[in-house]
Amino acid sequence: MNIGLVAHDTKKRLMQNLCIAYRGILSKHELYATETTGYLVEEVTNLNVHKYLSGPLGGTQQLGAQIEHNEIDMVIFLRDPEAKTRKETNVFNVLALCDMHNIPFATNLATAELLVMALERGDLDWREMYK
Ligand code: PGA
Repeated sequence: MNIGLVAHDTKKRLMQNLCIAYRGILSKHELYATETTGYLVEEVTNLNVHKYLSGPLGGTQQLGAQIEHNEIDMVIFLRDPEAKTRKETNVFNVLALCDMHNIPFATNLATAELLVMALERGDLDWREMYK
């Protein structure tokens, strides 16, 4: 499965810890991330991450384009609830595309963990048929 990862600055450490904790599961999948998030995840997990541009430079739009092409199966977007308008807009644009294409989308650690465990259990295998 192809997993999209984005973390706002205040949530990057959380994203690193999430990826360390679930490294074993994530290593069986393809990871796609905005640039800084991707580098930080690679640094601590040694997993290979496909990197888009940085979020503010168009990375979330690149993720959105892949969602539109049915190439992303799940998104973890650890958002800063206090982020200013532009960053907020990026979150809602990706969310809207996920809703349009029925893609699971987590915005906080609790939901992200549920999705990762569901992924491991095979709950998202229907995505393979759908593709
Ligand atoms: P980044 O982008 O991973 O390149 O920092 C995420 C964001 O929009 O903050």
